[in-house]
Amino acid sequence: MPEHTDKSGRAMVLQGAGQPLRLEERQVPAPGPGEILIRVTACAVCRTDLHLVDGELPNISYPVVPGHEIVGHAVDTGEGVVIEKGVRLGVPWLGYTCGRCRFCREQKENLCDEARFTGYQIDGGFADYVLADHRYCFPLPENYDDQQAAPLLCAGLIGYRCLRMTGQAQNIGIFGFGAAAHIVAQVAAHQGRSIFAFTRPADAAAQDFARSLGAVWAGGSEDDPGTELDAAIIFAPAGELVPRAMARIRKGGTVICGGIHMSDIPSFPYRRLWGERVLRSVANLTRADAREFLEIAPLVPVHTRITTFGLEDANIALDQLRHGGITGAAVLVP
Ligand SMILES: [Zn+2]
Ligand SMILES: [Zn+2]
Repeated sequence: MPEHTDKSGRAMVLQGAGQPLRLEERQVPAPGPGEILIRVTACAVCRTDLHLVDGELPNISYPVVPGHEIVGHAVDTGEGVVIEKGVRLGVPWLGYTCGRCRFCREQKENLCDEARFTGYQIDGGFADYVLADHRYCFPLPENYDDQQAAPLLCAGLIGYRCLRMTGQAQNIGIFGFGAAAHIVAQVAAHQGRSIFAFTRPADAAAQDFARSLGAVWAGGSEDDPGTELDAAIIFAPAGELVPRAMARIRKGGTVICGGIHMSDIPSFPYRRLWGERVLRSVANLTRADAREFLEIAPLVPVHTRITTFGLEDANIALDQLRHGGITGAAVLVP
């Protein structure tokens, strides 16, 4: 008898906006064509999970299991999947693309019209088991254990895509020093760039953490770093940071908004944009980003700072993330 039919597994389920996740015992699903059934061993918690729980993302289909930084092992495969059972895989945010739309054809699958996302439109990794499309599963570098590898899958990947969008920028500001920033800072330092970390005002712990990861300057989001920046990446979901970051960059510089959700951006004078300054967002990731980043991470080497929680403590992890109580990344361990 196949493993999946006689088993049940736990899942932390979101039933509606603003509700706490509820622990449920669920029948382990059978993998359909192209799918892999994965036993989850670690799943990192992302700020996007907070936006999901708060109902800030459009078109959420309840009930849904959050979690899109999944590490686990293949236990069963559907038709058309050739992969050894037991192999370790990572599952990121991008869970499905159509392969046909103009964006897919232009290698911009992160913008696919029919994209579906793990832990949002596809049940995610806050669970013992998860189903994933085999085209969106990645082998992980061996030098990371399961828990340390988990934050690479969103904080790492999307952070890396944001860093790439800064081009050749030497002095890079990062607004919001959480899970993504703590990985980006290490990659940027490895590339010989200078990171300026902007945290919540007076958040000495976050500023010390940023310095310990190679940031050349750390201060509050309103503080003056004393030099013009070539680019800035905003990870915090606070729209008021946009004009603040725009005011810090030089002519021709870029401000990148890396989050999926942000509060409204206050108006700012045109002279902040003048001089060919660029304001842009970074949406999702491509599989090429994933392959590239997962190759680079062990070379840096990126060390992830994690705080682990049991699966049933997902609500506690989310709460601590919301209140800035996590240094680095929170990881659920089923
Ligand atoms: Zn994420
Ligand atoms: Zn598409």
